[in-house]
Amino acid sequence: RPLLELRALRKSYGNAEVQTEILHGIDLRLMPGEFAALIGPSGSGKSTLLNCIGLLEGASSGELLIDGQVTQGLDDAALTALRGRTLGFIFQFHYLLPAFSAQENVYLPVMADQGHATPAMRTRALDLLARVGLADSAQKRPAQLSGGQQQRVAIARALAQHPKLVLADEPTGNLDTRTADEIFALLREVNRSENTTFLIVTHDPRLAARCDRIIRLVDGQIVEDRPNVPQASEP
Ligand code: ADP
Ligand code: ADP
Repeated sequence: RPLLELRALRKSYGNAEVQTEILHGIDLRLMPGEFAALIGPSGSGKSTLLNCIGLLEGASSGELLIDGQVTQGLDDAALTALRGRTLGFIFQFHYLLPAFSAQENVYLPVMADQGHATPAMRTRALDLLARVGLADSAQKRPAQLSGGQQQRVAIARALAQHPKLVLADEPTGNLDTRTADEIFALLREVNRSENTTFLIVTHDPRLAARCDRIIRLVDGQIVEDRPNVPQASEP
């Protein structure tokens, strides 16, 4: 069954007087394990779509199901619970907490969700940091890490609660090409080893070409949605 299903999803912004529709009826399904790119010009609605899927904003109409669960009509507590159980987020700017160590940054959101810290959370945070190549940096603060290392911490944080679907908004947007390639390879590795589903907003055609599926949004509508045979990364 689809992990994500959108039916005629519409999103408008505005007030009672003036409404501007940004998403004009989006139909989309993602199956478990997909590794999909969401591309399209600036202002086409990619972030708005990701925010709706991430349950950060309510749609104006249409249906949005995550892991088979209808999301319309859920109260904030139910939305938070569904988000924690199913979704992970990676942003262009990683929003790490500067006063806390890498390890704390990975488990603090889990603690916030569950109300208390457990030794298991701390251990999983260390395991995840090792996984993203930061075993020796767990006690460092963000300012002591490079941009690429900070984004690795953000990836470890996104994976802390075993998400089924990771939503990534320009995850390599502020990184140099080589670091972007490394981060992208890491996302792919997580996808392959744990069957985690990814929906990745990118403006970089090189990175989109490495995804299994390319979804193109123009003016709030999906104008292209096709499978893609990923190109082998350069030697
Ligand atoms: P993209 O991510 O593809 O660049 P966005 O989803 O950020 O596109 O924006 C799509 C359109 O929605 C833009 O015209 C933007 O100005 C508008 N928009 C985004 N957020 C809001 C908001 N909170 N209120 C009003 N308009 C918004
Ligand atoms: P209604 O139109 O039924 O009043 P809204 O879309 O205005 O519902 O949502 C009211 C509040 O409920 C929003 O501020 C938001 O916090 C939450 N909400 C409802 N559905 C969703 C959703 N699918 N994703 C994110 N937030 C939602």
